[in-house]
Amino acid sequence: MISTVRVSGVEQVSIRERPDLMRYQQSRFVSAAIVLSLYGAATGCLGAHPYDDPDTGVAVAAVTLTEGFEAGTKTSFAAADVTLGSGVWNMNDALIGTLSTDVKTGTKSARVRNSGRITMQFDRTTGAGTVTIHHAKFGTDGSSTWGLFASQNAGSTFTQIGATVTTNTTTFATATFTVNLAGNIRFDIRKLDGSANRINFDDITITDSGSGGGGGGGGTGGAALSVHTTLGIPSPTSTSDPNSFLSAKSQYVISYNSGRKIPNWVSWELNTSYLGSTPRQDDFRADDTLPPTLPQASLADYSGSGFDRGHMCPSGDRTLTVAANSQTFFLTNMVPQAANNNRGPWEGLESEARTIAQSGKELFIVAGGVFSSSSRTIGTGVSVPDQTFKVVVVLDAVGQGPSSVTTNTRVIAVLMPNDDSKISVTADWHNFRVSVDSIEALTGYDFLSDVDPAVQAVVEARVDNLP
Ligand code: MN
Ligand code: MN
Repeated sequence: MISTVRVSGVEQVSIRERPDLMRYQQSRFVSAAIVLSLYGAATGCLGAHPYDDPDTGVAVAAVTLTEGFEAGTKTSFAAADVTLGSGVWNMNDALIGTLSTDVKTGTKSARVRNSGRITMQFDRTTGAGTVTIHHAKFGTDGSSTWGLFASQNAGSTFTQIGATVTTNTTTFATATFTVNLAGNIRFDIRKLDGSANRINFDDITITDSGSGGGGGGGGTGGAALSVHTTLGIPSPTSTSDPNSFLSAKSQYVISYNSGRKIPNWVSWELNTSYLGSTPRQDDFRADDTLPPTLPQASLADYSGSGFDRGHMCPSGDRTLTVAANSQTFFLTNMVPQAANNNRGPWEGLESEARTIAQSGKELFIVAGGVFSSSSRTIGTGVSVPDQTFKVVVVLDAVGQGPSSVTTNTRVIAVLMPNDDSKISVTADWHNFRVSVDSIEALTGYDFLSDVDPAVQAVVEARVDNLP
């Protein structure tokens, strides 16, 4: 465990240099625990992508509803229903704006005028804890006011939640409403002053009743996000932060860094249920589930670079189905990896992990890179880690979680140079073992963050020494 989570001190420099990302800054630190990136939510509904693989039993729990308006199209203010990523909403005197004068995350946001309303046409059955909404003035319009209303009778009647909000900024401000109502609930956002001034709304998040809203990266909630983060989320990550962009896929969870064009970390579960006989698909490609506004690496960036396209979640860990294996070939699951590292001891530990899994164990694995001020790049600014790290937690039985981690639990942590001159392809992975604490110190991440701190203190200080 660590007491302070530092995510992206370095990346802040690159954000300042990227005007296209400036709009994200206001919301960069939205807690991972309250925001869930449903796989494919940026482009449409769950399951819309041909490589999506929702049927392998690797469910992503929806503790949070998010709506970013990216999936819908509505170009007139006239009242009409529109199908969005979260469901059907009615937009009255409201449309989905895509202009440069629309303040937005991604490429779209809602634009509301007069006494316009945006209303859910479906119930959330799990109640609501908190609701957060980004809001800003459209273009050069003046200030105006609005409110959040809730209905627990399928939209027959609505009651205002909290206070009326004034929108008076040209970049997004965040309005937070404490709801704490259980059972069926739906929401309605209403412009209240009736003026012609327009407001942009975006990034609506609704947490479950009783789920709280607190602390990613050190808090609880890894298991609520995904089975792949059962032991905790290593650092705060959200769908509002381009440099810690949360993408919870069926096969693994990533915190993606668009400034570096690689993941900060990738987290996944490994046990025999993921292992079969599907061959490598080798369909390396950009990750089309991310918002198109997020910069990504391309195949050309790696071509001729001298570095491998190094899987974090290995192809060999996902061999049950073609779709599952194919998902590991997103470039967002890759870092530029030195061949001697990737094909040598790194692969050695990957194989060892699968051998352990085949014995019936439950493994939770996190992998990523370590950087310094002198880290190099390839292609169009794809960052090359100085070292690659991996943390493997070995639990006795499939289905176990944080409470099953004891001071006797085996935790294998390695740190490997990502430079062919500093690592041999024939090196033994055992020789690169370090403590989890040392990787936490280098990266600022908090591994096993949902495990009892007293247990973390013991297992994270120890260096694995088993054969
Ligand atoms: Mn920790
Ligand atoms: Mn590899």
